[in-house]
Amino acid sequence: MKKGKLIVFSAPSGSGKTTIVRHLLKQESLNLEFSISATSREQRGDEKDGVDYYFLSSKEFKNKIKHEEFLEWEEVYRDNFYGTLKTEVERIWAKGKHVIFDIDVSGGLRIKRKFPEETLAIFVKPPSIDELKIRLKKRKTESDDKINMRVAKASAELATAPLFDEIILNENLDDALKEAEDMVGDFINDKGLSPRVQPKDLSKGKKKK
Ligand code: 5GP
Repeated sequence: MKKGKLIVFSAPSGSGKTTIVRHLLKQESLNLEFSISATSREQRGDEKDGVDYYFLSSKEFKNKIKHEEFLEWEEVYRDNFYGTLKTEVERIWAKGKHVIFDIDVSGGLRIKRKFPEETLAIFVKPPSIDELKIRLKKRKTESDDKINMRVAKASAELATAPLFDEIILNENLDDALKEAEDMVGDFINDKGLSPRVQPKDLSKGKKKK
């Protein structure tokens, strides 16, 4: 099987990474397919099993950990497990497509470490923690407790941004979408060298901010 590329989007919850990932999936020229993660968290209103996530019980999830079926997994929030199944990447590569991930920072960096050459790891930064809180409240999908838990985690996650190949500051969504499209397009089309060893004059000013 020919290996495709792996495009990782990681960010604190509420930074807009899911919107960016959805936008990129609509660009046919990028030839991307979404890596559907497995999770033990409860299904939200409009989510579909096998589309948004593979919803598993904690027991099923732990069983798959035991049998080493995950490329990476994480207990992102207490008792809420999330992970990428090895079969998911194989499924997408077998179709001749590139894989795009919407996963937490530890999982994202783990994939980068496992596939350093094939992976472009992008961190999406919210303008501020306050703005993040406002966005999460607007979303109305979580209770105040859960929002506070996500905001607390966000501060720690922001500190990992410099470990990523690229950072996109999501202040203006249209700009962030365009920046993401160019970045991913260049990487997929092998324009420039692999991330991190790219000389400054080839990076079009898009290196870390
Ligand atoms: P949510 O519950 O909002 O869907 O996702 C919560 C967090 O889990 C998000 O930061 C999301 O990126 C992360 N996540 C989703 N899938 C995976 C995965 O397969 N592995 C890891 N490590 N994190 C994931």
